[in-house]
Amino acid sequence: MTRTRHPVASTPTTTSTTPEPAARAGGRVIERVAERSRAIVDPAAEVIARGAPRAAVFVGLGANLGDARATIAAAIDELRELALADASTGMSSFVASSLWRSAPVDAAGPDFLNAVARFETALSPHDLLDALQAIEQRFGRERPYRNAPRTLDLDLLLFGVADNDGGVRHIDDRLELPHPRAAQRAFVLEPLAELWPDGEIPGAGRLADLLARARLDVAQRVELVAS
Ligand code: ADP
Ligand code: MG
Repeated sequence: MTRTRHPVASTPTTTSTTPEPAARAGGRVIERVAERSRAIVDPAAEVIARGAPRAAVFVGLGANLGDARATIAAAIDELRELALADASTGMSSFVASSLWRSAPVDAAGPDFLNAVARFETALSPHDLLDALQAIEQRFGRERPYRNAPRTLDLDLLLFGVADNDGGVRHIDDRLELPHPRAAQRAFVLEPLAELWPDGEIPGAGRLADLLARARLDVAQRVELVAS
């Protein structure tokens, strides 16, 4: 895999150029979320280094095969490592949401466990997708048919997030940003709103409004997993 600097990293609207606010923001979120989700969130998750421009991203995690809880926890560790891997000259914060349980939507099998992670990366969107798919493979992900049950699903939800702005819009054969189903899925919106309550998904609207709508959908049963 060729790792390239992401093309939007140097534009001030898509990445944090001032280390301190991002570090403080990450710290606040970690404290708040950690209280409710010690099982998967460790304050040591915050990773800070200095230097290269990086993009803030949100990644959605889902699992409904095998020991889904252990898988999500281990995958969060892998994402934290990924954020660290290109942080040697960069600045990164890492935070994970609580763990949520959801009924399958357009998918088969038992209930899913879900979470969302936010971190910063110097990878391009496509290189980050490669890295996410490599992690899925390490957890035994198979794609026998569309929407099949999965040991681990990692979706790149948003790329180049800055404050309340959900970052870049992009579409090609391999990658769509924002993730095409993020704005409708309660299992994405609930953990995303924990980390980013005032956020706005480009082309879809304010997270609070999207979440209010998704909560009205009785087919989407989503509940916080007690820690
Ligand atoms: P699901 O849509 O249920 O998550 P998969 O995980 O099998 O299904 O992904 C199918 C394809 O979706 C992937 O091969 C990938 O190329 C494509 N894709 C498009 N946009 C994204 C994105 N933002 N995040 C992850 N995968 C994406
Ligand atoms: Mg996926």
